[in-house]
Amino acid sequence: MNKYSFPKGGLPYYDSTAPSKTNVVNAFLPALSVIPLGNSMKKVYPIVSQGEQVREGMLIGRASGAGAANVHATVPGRITRKVSWKDGDNIEHDAFVIKLEGAFEKLGKRSELFQWKGVSAYDLQRIFSDHGIVEMENTEKPLAEMVSAGRKKDKLALVVRCVIDDPWLVADYALCQERIKDVVIGAAIVAKACVKVKQIIFAVSYREKELGQKLLESAEDLDIPTSLVLTGYRYPQRNSRELEMALRIYEKKENLNLGSFLILGPAVLVAAYDAVVHNKPVLERFVAVGGTALKQAQIMRIRIGTRIGDVIEQCGGFTGKLERIITGSPLSGREVIHLDEPVTKSCYAIVAMTKTQTANHGQQSCINCGECRVVCPVGLDPQYIYKRLKKNIVDNAWRTSCHGCGCCKIVCPSALPLSETILDKKQEALRA
Ligand code: SF4
Ligand code: SF4
Repeated sequence: MNKYSFPKGGLPYYDSTAPSKTNVVNAFLPALSVIPLGNSMKKVYPIVSQGEQVREGMLIGRASGAGAANVHATVPGRITRKVSWKDGDNIEHDAFVIKLEGAFEKLGKRSELFQWKGVSAYDLQRIFSDHGIVEMENTEKPLAEMVSAGRKKDKLALVVRCVIDDPWLVADYALCQERIKDVVIGAAIVAKACVKVKQIIFAVSYREKELGQKLLESAEDLDIPTSLVLTGYRYPQRNSRELEMALRIYEKKENLNLGSFLILGPAVLVAAYDAVVHNKPVLERFVAVGGTALKQAQIMRIRIGTRIGDVIEQCGGFTGKLERIITGSPLSGREVIHLDEPVTKSCYAIVAMTKTQTANHGQQSCINCGECRVVCPVGLDPQYIYKRLKKNIVDNAWRTSCHGCGCCKIVCPSALPLSETILDKKQEALRA
């Protein structure tokens, strides 16, 4: 089978401190959960208050406006207080703290399967909205909004993104292995909600081609055409821009007309399945936990709202001197400021690093080697931008094109924080 890749830049990315594909454990249920209630950019209005008892899966915050999603209690218990904190990007967050009490209504219980095929597209969209289903890889954009935007296209292909170009995405792989049929049915449900979807494409990195075959086999009885496209695994192949480029090459080579793409990962598809078939909001997710500062790397099934400090404790605690904790990939993730920050719906990895693992260890002056230019997939000159930013000169051109992949940072022999500096300025400009 052919393999399709984006044309230039990128690099193979390995990290021996990430967990292995098969090392999956259940995290303990947290005695205290911190359930995020939106942030200063996404408004969620609490509908319960301090002292109230909440049930597992109960609506506790109602979304208001674009970008916000409903919030549910992920454990049964009592709301003890409301807290706020600022994240590494200086964005303020609110959250309810829930003390675990009472019985679980959904944990380990079999629920009757809801027959979704007779449900209208608009009712499916409403179910996504009611259950607070969001993109679970990065942006936490509400699925209902993505579906609504998809319906406005003339023709759409739903792309199931199982591209593992980064070892910290291993939780996606574990989820697919455990719930492959639910990933596929979740895709069929989203396709139906979108109306305009004419086919489902499983985009799987070449190294995981057996997973691609399994997805295809699991989709044999769907009422919609499906196909498998094998991609390269040079980082950042999974990124929407680079994945779309590879898919356009496939489209041209196969003489197809795929229309626009709606790209979704396995976690949101399983969440869509659970919402529609089991009437369940997102209560938990798989997270890859590791890094040089952590005793034991493992993939964990973790309740949303579990504090990062509790997760680390369950991995045996720290070994060596902790320098930094990142949620997401070390190349592009967000810095954790407090160990009480919770696992969120989009937290696919937690990386605890000693100084040796942080990219800006032992910074030196730029030696003009040009490596950062070679690996930049969007054709920027990171060292030029970095030098100008250091002099407080902010140009506009790179702001939209840099997608923060971090390739420039990882290859820099002088260990300069290229992508971090560029992204910080980009965030600053967005907030201004
Ligand atoms: S400049 Fe931006 S897009 Fe280019 S390699 Fe660096 S982070 Fe990636
Ligand atoms: S990779 Fe680092 S040292 Fe080389 S040109 Fe870019 S900024 Fe300079």
